[in-house]
Amino acid sequence: CQRCLSLIKKTKFLNAYITISEEVALKQAEESEKRYKKGHSLGALDGIPVAVKDNFSTSGIETTCASNMLKGYVPPYNATVVQRLLDQGAVLMGKTNLDEFAMGSGSTDGVFGPVKNPWSYSKQYREKRKQKPHGENEDSNWLITGGSSGGSAAAVSAFTCFAALGSDTGGSTRNPAAHCGIVGFKPSYGLVSRHGLIPLVNSMDVPGILTRCVDDAATVLGVLAGHDPKDSTTIQDPGKPFMLSSLTDVSKLCIGIPKEYLVPELSSEVRSFWSKAANLFESEGAKVIEVSLPHTSYSIVCYHVLCTSEVASNMARFDGLEYGHRCDIDVSTEAMYAATRREGFNDVVRGRILAGNFFLLKENYANYFIKAQKVRRLIANDFVNVFNSGVDVLLTPTTLSEAVPYLEFIKEDNRTRSAQDDIFTQAVNMAGLPAVSVPVALSNQGLPVGLQFIGRAFCDQQLLTVAKWFE
Ligand code: GLN
Repeated sequence: CQRCLSLIKKTKFLNAYITISEEVALKQAEESEKRYKKGHSLGALDGIPVAVKDNFSTSGIETTCASNMLKGYVPPYNATVVQRLLDQGAVLMGKTNLDEFAMGSGSTDGVFGPVKNPWSYSKQYREKRKQKPHGENEDSNWLITGGSSGGSAAAVSAFTCFAALGSDTGGSTRNPAAHCGIVGFKPSYGLVSRHGLIPLVNSMDVPGILTRCVDDAATVLGVLAGHDPKDSTTIQDPGKPFMLSSLTDVSKLCIGIPKEYLVPELSSEVRSFWSKAANLFESEGAKVIEVSLPHTSYSIVCYHVLCTSEVASNMARFDGLEYGHRCDIDVSTEAMYAATRREGFNDVVRGRILAGNFFLLKENYANYFIKAQKVRRLIANDFVNVFNSGVDVLLTPTTLSEAVPYLEFIKEDNRTRSAQDDIFTQAVNMAGLPAVSVPVALSNQGLPVGLQFIGRAFCDQQLLTVAKWFE
């Protein structure tokens, strides 16, 4: 715990943490040590330093969603997943940075500033660029972590904790995991409770797990998974514990390669890692087949209609009365609402609220919202059809390319590309399936690239077993 705390301080320039809960962590670590010394039974995560994305409620610890709206907000309760980590002895190091309200895929949009990718300062990357391996201040051209759980990904990648919670609505756990060279796992929708996760899109949000290896992700899943009376969408029998056996024989596996994922924007390097991975499975005897997910091209638009519609309704709770920020204007309740929300939310959040309210207008509802729900079903059915045809897992890229420099990412035209970047991840959320991003290799630039495995709903254990074999 002390080593992790000192690393957190040393790597402060990464901006991975919004709150460092040093006192809480030291106390928890001390209690854990006492349990160990007295020979008491230990929890599955006893004494293990973990971090939590700042959109999960933590009792007594500020929870901001990286937004002015919630600055200073201290929840009176723990999210179920946070409580389950603590019940198993985990040590909470702090709350991690994100895009405001988890809207984004760069971790560049929060009010506490962008998160820097630890790989920007790696020996490999610096050497390739003929730069000195150290000295965070000399280079303004640092890389983004991806997002929106970039703080959690950077925290794990920089060894400041062993596991971190992210949230995954359209790829926010898998995307930064790929860019930071770690494992990012999105469980099946309904396997892990969302109670206390401040919602983005209730029908797609899932708590995500970021770790340095697949086994660690399975251990954390074992702690988190299971029914929660406070989240009616959680299933009764999660089939715990998640112990991964070593897969010795892959010859019975059928791996699907979705042909629609071979998009022109995919970088040639990622493409070549993808095909090498497929060849590896094939050479070990697995059946590798090309499959079709025909509605893939509608997924980005469909996601955005549904996402913004749910955002518009979710964000209504932030009215200046119940939580966080309230403006000084007191001429009328309406003026107070408006000014509070103008001051509290950034452009991205306000833009989504506007778009969502547009789609939900009486005259637009059937044409946009209902139609998008139907397309969502078609997208989900594409996966069902593929799995029914005998495919065990799908293998795809996680992102279009390795992490890009911040200055490139924030260019106007690249923001459109960043929506495009979710192309491999968001359909999975619309279908509620489990998916995991696993680091595959370093690019020519010396940067990590991840590949994604997608599994059948509630076959999380099988999915992780395949990912473990591959990693
Ligand atoms: N990039 C996507 C969005 O902005 C996904 C975000 C997420 O998974 N939280 O909606």
